[in-house]
Amino acid sequence: MILVVLENQRGKIHPFSIEAVAAGQKFANELGLELSILCMGENVDELKDQASNFKTNNLIIAKHDLITMYSADGYSKVLSDVIREHKPKFTLLGHSYMVRDFLPRVSGKLNMPFVSDIISVDFNNGNPLFSKQVFNAKLATNIQTSADNSLLSFQSAAFSSDDIEMGGADSTIDFNVELNEVDIKSTSEPEFQESSSGVDLSTAELIVSVGRGIESEDNLPIAESLAKSLGAEIASSRPVVDMGWLPPYRQVGSSGQVVSPKLYFSVGVSGAIQHVVGMKGSKNVIAINKDEDAPIFEIADYAVIGDLMEIVPKLTEALNSSS
Ligand SMILES: Cc1cc2nc3c(=O)[nH]c(=O)nc-3n(C[C@H](O)[C@H](O)[C@H](O)COP(=O)(O)OP(=O)(O)OC[C@H]3O[C@@H](n4cnc5c(N)ncnc54)[C@H](O)[C@@H]3O)c2cc1C
Repeated sequence: MILVVLENQRGKIHPFSIEAVAAGQKFANELGLELSILCMGENVDELKDQASNFKTNNLIIAKHDLITMYSADGYSKVLSDVIREHKPKFTLLGHSYMVRDFLPRVSGKLNMPFVSDIISVDFNNGNPLFSKQVFNAKLATNIQTSADNSLLSFQSAAFSSDDIEMGGADSTIDFNVELNEVDIKSTSEPEFQESSSGVDLSTAELIVSVGRGIESEDNLPIAESLAKSLGAEIASSRPVVDMGWLPPYRQVGSSGQVVSPKLYFSVGVSGAIQHVVGMKGSKNVIAINKDEDAPIFEIADYAVIGDLMEIVPKLTEALNSSS
């Protein structure tokens, strides 16, 4: 069996979990195994309603008063019990903050390997090879597990939610959760958000990202006006944050946020690897850069070679006059 664990995000399935479902369906097809999707913990009824549309063999529901609020102790105990009972070959989750918090405990409790933050999978005739980044994303390495059961977490955009097959579950299983107050030894702080202002770029559908090509803080309104016209969030490369022109939660990249919007509109960003690892899952990339050899053009769907100071205001004006 392949088991996918869903995470709640303010009453909805976390986007990383939706990608994990796409991964689970692919694993099940490639390896000829059954697929089960686990709904547990916070907002479990909402998760179940939304998950009931996904094509899967089983929907497993783990409901208990002691996990209506997230705690690493509660979640790791329940998931460990589900894995003990159902023995999935691979248990798949999105590499979210919550998963980073509780999944290592499951790995420890079950003495089970955990391959984290996977960026791609080669199914390799039934012996999957997992690729993950090392040395601050300068290299990628392949990992294979020889264990009967393993835990896997996926970096945003390793799989695409567009590939999900709908069709519903063949059966629903109510898992008998055994949990006592003594099992919960710690309480968690409120859900982590990237910033106190609540900006979560990881779920933004449209992003205008500004790089050092903007030259000065005084020119930022050029990019901000474009973002406003598109209804997009503003983001940036690291130098823009380092210079204090935008707050740190706007930074995209290996030391910033990982994003996968429908449109990533990059203006004056060179496309260094540390930036690209944070946005390569974008569905469409438009890049404006005056250097035709800028690395960002290697992953751009639409390349505009020219001066952003001239192009962006005209584009914004055209967008505003057409709306
Ligand atoms: C450990 C480590 C972690 C890092 N983490 C991150 C990270 O999380 N995110 C990140 O972004 N970077 C990160 N970096 C930095 C990264 O290596 C790059 O230095 C950075 O991404 C470059 O930002 P940039 O593209 O805005 O600037 P530059 O590399 O200076 O590029 C500016 C670009 O703008 C273009 N340009 C200039 N003027 C114009 C104009 N008028 N019109 C059009 N184009 C113009 C230039 O041709 C150039 O391509 C990290 C580095 C290290 C060592």
